[in-house]
Amino acid sequence: MRVVPVGGRGFDCNVFLLKDPASNAYDLVDAGVGMDHERVLAEVAAVVDPHRVRHVAVTHEHFDHVGGLPRWQELGARVVASGPTADKLRAGHDVTSKMFGADLPVLEVDAVVGDGDHVPLGGVDVAVLGTPGHSPGSLCYWHEASGTLFSGDTVFAQGGIGRFDFPDGDVRDLEASILRLERLPVRSLHCGHGPSVDGAEAGASLHGSARYVRSCVPADPAP
Ligand SMILES: [Zn+2]
Repeated sequence: MRVVPVGGRGFDCNVFLLKDPASNAYDLVDAGVGMDHERVLAEVAAVVDPHRVRHVAVTHEHFDHVGGLPRWQELGARVVASGPTADKLRAGHDVTSKMFGADLPVLEVDAVVGDGDHVPLGGVDVAVLGTPGHSPGSLCYWHEASGTLFSGDTVFAQGGIGRFDFPDGDVRDLEASILRLERLPVRSLHCGHGPSVDGAEAGASLHGSARYVRSCVPADPAP
């Protein structure tokens, strides 16, 4: 799998272009906030005609990841997202909308996926992992053969973790999701914000995230 990072400046999340020139398969992970769409589009256009992007696989429902979706759908891409994310996009509302002073775009997700499903991204079959905690609709995308993980805002490089203090966040769910990711043999970690990490640093980063989230979970009250 070949991964081209796109954007990630300002309010944008990282957008990743997955490409397989042999099969003409080009897909995106996340769409960005949409406020700087022309720049994202130009960066994609430097690699491939944006009309050839087939899927935009969304990691979660937060505004900075889905704001750019309508423009990609207009260009002919199919939107792939979890059930909770699809519900919020249908309603045009999410807890993060107000932070950006705008409602979510209203749209129908083309393919609703969940844990255990597979989606074709960048010419390969990628597993969908349900990883709630940062948000109810959070997914990660995992390509085992290359050890590539797209983590959205569930974990970040250097042992970072996603916020769990939004009204629909849940630190215990986040802990369970991160402990699951920690067991994967990740060799390339691509996060929703900040840098990507490769090799031993990817595994070390996930161990760090697991330690961090464990320290955030309140101890159970004594019986
Ligand atoms: Zn988020």
